[in-house]
Amino acid sequence: MRTTVGIIGGGPAGLLLARLLHRAGIDSVVLESRDRAYAEGRQRAGVLEQGTVDVLRACGAGERMGRQGLVHHGIELRFDRRAHRVDLSSLTGGRTVMIYAQTEVVKDLIALQLADGGPLFFEARALSVEGADTERPVVRFLRGGREQTLECDYVVGCDGFHGIARNAVPEAVRRTYERGYPYSWLGVLADVPPSCEELTYAHSARGFALHSMRSPTVSRLYLQVPTGEDVAAWPDERIWDELDARLAVDGPWRLERGPITAKSVLPMRSWVIEPMRHGRLLLAGDAAHIVPPAGAKGLNLAVGDVVVLARALAALKETGSTAALDAYSTTCLRRVWRAEHFSYLMTTTLHTEPGQSPFATRLQLAQLDRIASSTAAATELAQNYAGLPFG
Ligand SMILES: Cc1cc2nc3c(=O)[nH]c(=O)nc-3n(C[C@H](O)[C@H](O)[C@H](O)COP(=O)(O)OP(=O)(O)OC[C@H]3O[C@@H](n4cnc5c(N)ncnc54)[C@H](O)[C@@H]3O)c2cc1C
Repeated sequence: MRTTVGIIGGGPAGLLLARLLHRAGIDSVVLESRDRAYAEGRQRAGVLEQGTVDVLRACGAGERMGRQGLVHHGIELRFDRRAHRVDLSSLTGGRTVMIYAQTEVVKDLIALQLADGGPLFFEARALSVEGADTERPVVRFLRGGREQTLECDYVVGCDGFHGIARNAVPEAVRRTYERGYPYSWLGVLADVPPSCEELTYAHSARGFALHSMRSPTVSRLYLQVPTGEDVAAWPDERIWDELDARLAVDGPWRLERGPITAKSVLPMRSWVIEPMRHGRLLLAGDAAHIVPPAGAKGLNLAVGDVVVLARALAALKETGSTAALDAYSTTCLRRVWRAEHFSYLMTTTLHTEPGQSPFATRLQLAQLDRIASSTAAATELAQNYAGLPFG
């Protein structure tokens, strides 16, 4: 099999890249190791930056999002039993975020790809990328119990943190940067209308909590828990009691409880590989970088990467110039490191480390108080949260 761009991974990065390339008249093949139901059901992100929303709309994937997504103009911070709203729109010249689950973005992109895009193969697991530094890189993959090859002009590794594409970048060439965190998130979905109008991030002596939502009838809630925590240690009542305690404020607010339909524990890490290109292999999304989820940046970074890449490949097709492609890694990494820093700050300001000193807690509260009382500090948060321009 032969194509111009071989895409490994049918998550948001791979699917959106295929869509953008299709619209630029560039053919591609997407290899996705899982089946369609699994790819469409994987619960993950839910906050789309304005730039991500604009890109999805422009490529024809905005219709259902426009009907079902929830536009948010602000977020709330809770600390010291008080609530402070950060007005994203007024601090960023009118930018907003959209609450629309990653599962739905993936469903919309899969439907478009199958309707009029290039081949998208489910249950096609890439095994290796060969000849990344030659003119004709090849992806070896397993499909229907048979090993096959995909010859490409370019290969893009959109295969997430556990993917294989980056193995083709020689150790001598690549460098990785990593930071772990001594806590995880317990994430739950509950069939109950959200108790907050906007995403609510809570700092508390008992640990971090986040009240989020998927729709007007489904809440998405997170609790900081110890790393390696067993979900079984968290019966529903304990989850609701803990959310109640961590989100508590002085005043009339009340947390509505309802049936919990899903629970999972998510480890937290910051991780970047450099460069994001080796020869004719390019890396995009979680295959190249991971952020802890408190900044809501992972999916949005993946979108930023493939927008830059699709433009570069379109420029190559139109003008024959590889200049934008040659700058791909540098262009993306600048935005990636900004988001890494923001995600790190959100994480370390809002979570309580095991054995954290009272001094460290006072610093966190001083930082939150600064955001609540200084337009400059709030603007910095708002600009990063609502999203910086794609490269
Ligand atoms: C709980 C949680 C909450 C989050 N919240 C947010 C948020 O609010 N906002 C935000 O922006 N981000 C958020 N994120 C991060 C976001 O979900 C990821 O950054 C995003 O999924 C990255 O997309 P991707 O396409 O790069 O990778 P993935 O979604 O991981 O997709 C990779 C795809 O490659 C496939 N694959 C892997 N190996 C192979 C192989 N060998 N061959 C073929 N296919 C392969 C996988 O099956 C998968 O479909 C959150 C993440 C989690 C876990």
